[in-house]
Amino acid sequence: NLSDKLDRAFKVLKGQGSITEINVAETMKEIRKALLDADVNYKTAKTFTDDVRTKALGENVLTSISPGQLLTKLMNDELTALMGGTTAELDLKPSPTIILIAGLNGAGKTTFTGKLANYLKTQKGKKPLLVADDIYRPAAITQLQVLGEQVGIPVYANPESKDPIAIAREGIAQAKQNGNNVVIIDTAGRLSIDEAMMVEIEQVKAAVNPHEILFVVDAMTGQDAVNTAKVFNDRLDFTGVVLTKLDGDTRGGAALSIKSVVNKPIKFIGTGEKMEALDVFHPDRMASRILGMGDVVSLVERAQQQFDEKEAAELQKKIRKNKFDFNDFYSQIQQIKKMGNMKDLMGMIPGVGKMMKDVEVSDDAFKGIEAIIQSMTPKEKENPDLINPSRRNRIAKGSGTDLQEVNRLMKQFEDMRKVMKQMSNPAAMANMMRRMP
Ligand code: GDP
Ligand code: MG
Repeated sequence: NLSDKLDRAFKVLKGQGSITEINVAETMKEIRKALLDADVNYKTAKTFTDDVRTKALGENVLTSISPGQLLTKLMNDELTALMGGTTAELDLKPSPTIILIAGLNGAGKTTFTGKLANYLKTQKGKKPLLVADDIYRPAAITQLQVLGEQVGIPVYANPESKDPIAIAREGIAQAKQNGNNVVIIDTAGRLSIDEAMMVEIEQVKAAVNPHEILFVVDAMTGQDAVNTAKVFNDRLDFTGVVLTKLDGDTRGGAALSIKSVVNKPIKFIGTGEKMEALDVFHPDRMASRILGMGDVVSLVERAQQQFDEKEAAELQKKIRKNKFDFNDFYSQIQQIKKMGNMKDLMGMIPGVGKMMKDVEVSDDAFKGIEAIIQSMTPKEKENPDLINPSRRNRIAKGSGTDLQEVNRLMKQFEDMRKVMKQMSNPAAMANMMRRMP
């Protein structure tokens, strides 16, 4: 599946300190393949990977995240933008708001009509009326009536009539009479696109002048969904898309393709047969779903939020001059703590999550260290070499720890300074690498 493929793609980048032309090209090739398999069409996948590649090459890799993680975040942002960026709301200002539902047979139109009415009633305080305008299937009217009953919303039907245009008009008249401020018209579909159906729905549109035309499509039909969307949009110029049956294991690549081919927002997704199984479409959540690695994104976001680049540059300068002191050490600890609960944070790293389940990691881990540093005088913090045995004794008492703990911290600090000094000196670094097995 896509997730496995992306894992493999990211392996290419693993352990590399920066995103380079070579590793990104290889990864993008894998990602393009993975997207194609998830029903994203070729043109969209190509544009997408080209864009991400350009952005990735200009990106600084933060020390706290891997290039693979950074790339995931970039891809997530790019996918989100491609799917419209923000949530597209229905225009509910006109009263009554007239909403026309269109799509092929079995796409989930009637089910969605019931769900939408329920949503508008319970979440938006609206008083909807449903109109049964599918006159070809005898069971269609009953189906809508049953759903209406279930969610407590009236249904207008005229089983004697064979004129969908007249029924739609009658429904709207009844809504005005009864004070319903939304009218949702459920229409007839066909097994595949045919001219008679298109003409009929065009006529209904012309007669009722809807404020919203929602095109309902089964997400599981993959590339067909994109083709159908194109034909319906050419004829109806719809205002939004509803993707149904996203409760299965479909990754939702259709969402990306449809948006990029017809350039209309996806407004809702159906996630089950029940009347409550409707979600407002959130581009960022769908992006995570397509990528199949949602948590990495929030991890990177948090790291980026907390990592102050200026502070980092300042720190590097100090390290180079061997001026790293206890003030810096203390603020490093605060940085780490700011990133949130350690356990949560580590749990977000793919593969680590499960391992962390039984391990106790707490922020208290820093408590002793913080107390020791706080018990130093400003001079001692700035110049750790001053801290002789008698000073260590005083610090231990002052911090409520013991001499052993203070000595341990001093040793850790010295080791850290040594390593830092080596890392900031390219010659020493090269020397160290040469000595490694
Ligand atoms: P219509 O022909 O377009 O009106 O489609 P229906 O509303 O009658 O739905 C066709 C079938 O798909 C029914 O069995 C529905 O219960 C089912 N269905 C609709 N929406 C969803 C959904 O979001 N998830 C799942 N699993 N099934 C759905
Ligand atoms: Mg139907």
